[in-house]
Amino acid sequence: MAINLERYNRQNLIEGWQQEKLYNLKVSLAGSGLLSDFLLVDLISLGIGRNTRTGSSCSFEFEKINPEVYIEQRDEEITSFQMAELCIEDSDFVIDATNDTRSKHFLFEAAKKKNLNYFSASCSKSGLSFSFNRNGEVFDDSTQGAVNSMICAGIVADELRKRAFCLKRDRQLDRLEIGVKEPSNLEKKILQVGAGAIGTFSALALALKSAQIKIIDFDVVEESNLNRQFLFYDSIGKNKAEALSKMLEKYSRKIQNGTEKIGENFDPSGYDFVFSCVDNNQARYFMNLASAKHSVPLINGGSSTFAGNAMPYFPGKTACLDCQLGYDLTETAKEEEQPKKREIGACFHPALIIPNQIIAGLMLICVEKAISGKYEKINYLSGEGLLFQEIEDQCFSECRKNG
Ligand SMILES: [Zn+2]
Repeated sequence: MAINLERYNRQNLIEGWQQEKLYNLKVSLAGSGLLSDFLLVDLISLGIGRNTRTGSSCSFEFEKINPEVYIEQRDEEITSFQMAELCIEDSDFVIDATNDTRSKHFLFEAAKKKNLNYFSASCSKSGLSFSFNRNGEVFDDSTQGAVNSMICAGIVADELRKRAFCLKRDRQLDRLEIGVKEPSNLEKKILQVGAGAIGTFSALALALKSAQIKIIDFDVVEESNLNRQFLFYDSIGKNKAEALSKMLEKYSRKIQNGTEKIGENFDPSGYDFVFSCVDNNQARYFMNLASAKHSVPLINGGSSTFAGNAMPYFPGKTACLDCQLGYDLTETAKEEEQPKKREIGACFHPALIIPNQIIAGLMLICVEKAISGKYEKINYLSGEGLLFQEIEDQCFSECRKNG
């Protein structure tokens, strides 16, 4: 079968990327929880050709996400070495994403015997861990948190891709164990601006946490979005905010949408938070101003191909976005005043699902931290993991938002 190049257009823009190699891989995945759900989403979105999942779940319509790849789901758990051997037959990679020590032990031993690459991943609502070619640890709290599952799955999928083929700047990570507390519930009113790659995951996470959300975006879904905006499989040509809120109805009834463009009159009054999931500084500039003016906290998400960060601005408690970024958004906004035109030959950036899902998860972690009085931004860099950084509590004296 020929590979649909438009679907993978944005990842094929990465120097040295080998889509064909991914298409020829077979990955065996074990798990029935959200961690294995998000891993399967990643594997099929990246375009890995053959995927076997031992474990059951109907969180997502996996077959529709990428109809070009093969998925086999076996509704059972791994309870013996023989079963583990059977499940990983002809695989290139084995991932155990359960929180079950027994399953991990059998899969690890079976993978070792066949000399296969083995990842163990596990998470709870207060931490996540993964390891490569080691018998992995399991969290005591057996519930896999939605947010930590999103983050952990992204990190493991990234490390798997690096072992399939290495890119020039790749740095492999063999192991990560980190405490990250996600909100158990977030019954807040949130205005989310942007329903693209970060926006898909942040709205999903917010919906799973019972938040009341309004999603706004004026853009429409294109085929080249599908490698990372995984809920849009039936939505090409439709408005992103509308399509996303429709897909999320399954998880929450508290979602609205709109097509407003962000400008000088942006007014988030009445919301508890603004989630900025946009890809341009002009919109960030107006959101930063409006947050200061109306005293509504702003959580900004930004990603590049292999990195990104989640950055909160709490008016009166932290420096604003301008001051945290160390440059004046007004200046960069001016340069971007002409909106990007969707013409042939327009310049697009390489983009993957991985950093976007990680940053979306980290935006909710920022909120949880702020609720407990810690104002931190969180950076993600492929091969390094997560870096937490305390934010200055005040703007620079030159900042106009000081009044
Ligand atoms: Zn400032």
